[in-house]
Amino acid sequence: MDLSIVIPLFNEDESLPELTAWIEKVMLQNNFSYEIILIDDGSTDNSWQVIEQLRMANPHIKGIKFQRNYGKSAALNEGFKAAQGEVIITMDADMQDSPDEIPELRRMIVEDGFDIVSGWKKKRYDNRLTKNIPSKLFNAAARRSSKIKLHDFNCGLKSYRKKVVKSVEIYGEMHRYIPILAKWAGFRKIGEKVVEHRARKYGVTKFGWERFVNGFLDLGSITFVGKFGKRPMHFFGLWGTLFFFSGFMIFLYLTISKFFFDQTGMTQRPLFFVAILVMIIGSQLFLAGFIGELIARNSPERNNYLIEDKLGIER
Ligand code: UDP
Ligand code: MG
Repeated sequence: MDLSIVIPLFNEDESLPELTAWIEKVMLQNNFSYEIILIDDGSTDNSWQVIEQLRMANPHIKGIKFQRNYGKSAALNEGFKAAQGEVIITMDADMQDSPDEIPELRRMIVEDGFDIVSGWKKKRYDNRLTKNIPSKLFNAAARRSSKIKLHDFNCGLKSYRKKVVKSVEIYGEMHRYIPILAKWAGFRKIGEKVVEHRARKYGVTKFGWERFVNGFLDLGSITFVGKFGKRPMHFFGLWGTLFFFSGFMIFLYLTISKFFFDQTGMTQRPLFFVAILVMIIGSQLFLAGFIGELIARNSPERNNYLIEDKLGIER
């Protein structure tokens, strides 16, 4: 199969017929063998009934329905598990992404050898103030911390080599960072293509301003987990040592000045409390490090590496 089109959706019943018809048209024009996987993320409108009807008319359409709303990441994760195509395309269900981009996105994977190609909504048709400006900040932060040169991490329209989607797990709200997750898994060829962005035709946006707060928090955790997820003590231990040591030095200074220079009343000096506080923080950090190590050891992902090839070893 050439292509799997994975589409997460939450209350998008109005768009679905038009969207799938358009995709079908593009697939036929290019002679692709394909599947469209629609993941209904617990919609409360008629989305699932619409999917059932669409499947009757076109057996390339497949559906997955969640019992309740789990979020876009969960929907993408399930879609990725089910996808069988050599190239996987993700897109939003709201018709803001154009299916006409699919052939080129696929070509860049198959011919140019990219592992991921991310869409870039260079010209956006969203509310300027609440989306565009925070989004610029957010992308700059993601670029800095991940060193991946993308303008638009969160673009819903992307294409992937099959191996990539089978080796990343998207949880929480991590759909914004799939290129970063993929980079850690060892996929280095990450490309970008300017894509057409359209105004939302039906329905309403599912993300409000909180997305940016959550987005930044997630960027923090994803960077931390990526760096220290498997060796938390290297982070907590370092800071724990620094804190404890500086507290200890202050203490030493106070002691020396009391006994040798006869400064009275060590406990009356503010520095005394600083020393105690800093030493307590230091030991707390150490404890956090030990607990982190225990968790990392018990995590099912502790040896989650991908073997690309083997020589002289029985497969
Ligand atoms: N979506 C989803 N689950 C959610 C929220 C959104 O599957 O909990 C889908 C939504 O139906 C759409 C895509 O994710 O297909 C992008 O959402 P939206 O268009 O609301 O985001 P925006 O374009 O405003 O960034
Ligand atoms: Mg949208």
